[in-house]
Amino acid sequence: MRLSRYFLPVLKETPSEAQIASHRLMLRAGMIKQASAGIYSWLPLGFKVLRKLENIVHEEQMRAGHIPMLMPTIQSADLWRESGRYDDYGEEMLRIRDRHDRDMLYGPTNEELITDIFRAHVGSYKDLPLTLYHIQWKFRDEIRPRFGVMRGREFYMKDGYNFDLSKEDALHAYNRHLVSYLRTYERMGLQAIPMRADGGPIGGDYTHEFLVLAETGESEVFYDSEITDLRFGEREIDYDSVEQCQAVLEEFTSRYARTDETHDEVIFNEVPEARRRSARGIEVGQIFYFGTKYSEPLGATVQGPDGKPVPVHMGSHGIGVSRLVGAIIEASHDENGIIWPEGVTPFHAGIVNLKQGDAEADAACEALYASLTALGLEPLYDDRDERAGGKFATMDLIGLPWRITVGPRGLKNGVVELTSRKTGESEEMPPEKAIEKIA
Ligand code: ATP
Ligand code: MG
Ligand code: MG
Ligand code: MG
Repeated sequence: MRLSRYFLPVLKETPSEAQIASHRLMLRAGMIKQASAGIYSWLPLGFKVLRKLENIVHEEQMRAGHIPMLMPTIQSADLWRESGRYDDYGEEMLRIRDRHDRDMLYGPTNEELITDIFRAHVGSYKDLPLTLYHIQWKFRDEIRPRFGVMRGREFYMKDGYNFDLSKEDALHAYNRHLVSYLRTYERMGLQAIPMRADGGPIGGDYTHEFLVLAETGESEVFYDSEITDLRFGEREIDYDSVEQCQAVLEEFTSRYARTDETHDEVIFNEVPEARRRSARGIEVGQIFYFGTKYSEPLGATVQGPDGKPVPVHMGSHGIGVSRLVGAIIEASHDENGIIWPEGVTPFHAGIVNLKQGDAEADAACEALYASLTALGLEPLYDDRDERAGGKFATMDLIGLPWRITVGPRGLKNGVVELTSRKTGESEEMPPEKAIEKIA
């Protein structure tokens, strides 16, 4: 992409309404624009990151054997009356009436809708196990939308639902989700710690939240510091193996790690004092096993091996895709701007032409642009006729992992400058060498 042809409305001023770094930086970097309270337009740069996260989520869900689909944003109230949640859900649910006076709602989550699909099409235990998921916009009329996309009213969420014949099978699905979530967050350059949590309106007492530690997080958490040393890493996993998935669950959940709702001082005090931590965290996902809570009232049964109908055991599993954009920035920025982890960066490298219009500099930039593109990478070329200082500030703000600076002086010696956004270190080298380092 050439910056002269892109749409990157960066702000010079720090927006006063933004209280935390990620919100400020997303506004300043031209990633989002508020449409109304808690509702945002995703401008091209923000949209690019959102899509990257979405792709990672899809890849990891499909790797785990979960099946993508898409359900609508607007739902009928009838199903929610059937499950008994229409009244329970309260003010967070945006209720709408259509022209025929039918009660509709903007879905805050999809347990009812997916269970309806299931009961219409699945009748036998032979069709199980089944896990379906989608990534779709949700609406919750949060009492206090704030922190930009971190607590929006309209937000983008992956929600997946497993259907199993027995509790045992459903717990395997639960474990599979835990593993796939660990992989997902690590690919985004994040450490998200599974913590024992509370069921909330979704229900169920078997649940973990995934938390990214951050001072600006809204959740209070308590944990054994040893847990922060755990990484899933590059290890192989067979998602069909009950033992392997169970082992990962045990490894990642055996140490004390709880949110304030489930925090227990007595148990916490058994952790050696030097390892006891209390901190704040951002909830970036949650997994639930809730048994037959929805399948019974909605009549989602299958014929079991003995011919008798059994309600299916279910769980639901969410990832806050749009919140993650903010969470990643919260975890990775400095006073000059965002520092994107490699796995989610909107562009792989920025090319800064110090002297736009200089034949040699222009040609060198074009050549770099073409080489990077040919390697399947996406460079962002700042080809505007602007001062170097402004170009550098923009690149720092939008936080691409690498910046290649090209100017007539360096080119005389056959070199360009390669700068790492993360370390701030710069090194001069021939253009080919810079490409090699980025690729
Ligand atoms: P919170 O405790 O932050 O209100 P939640 O527990 O109500 O979140 P879940 O029902 O578990 O949310 O939804 C799954 C995920 O969706 C959450 O873990 C979070 O990452 C994301 N999410 C929930 N509410 C919002 C919101 N208002 N804005 C952005 N993301 C959200
Ligand atoms: Mg909530
Ligand atoms: Mg929560
Ligand atoms: Mg939750």
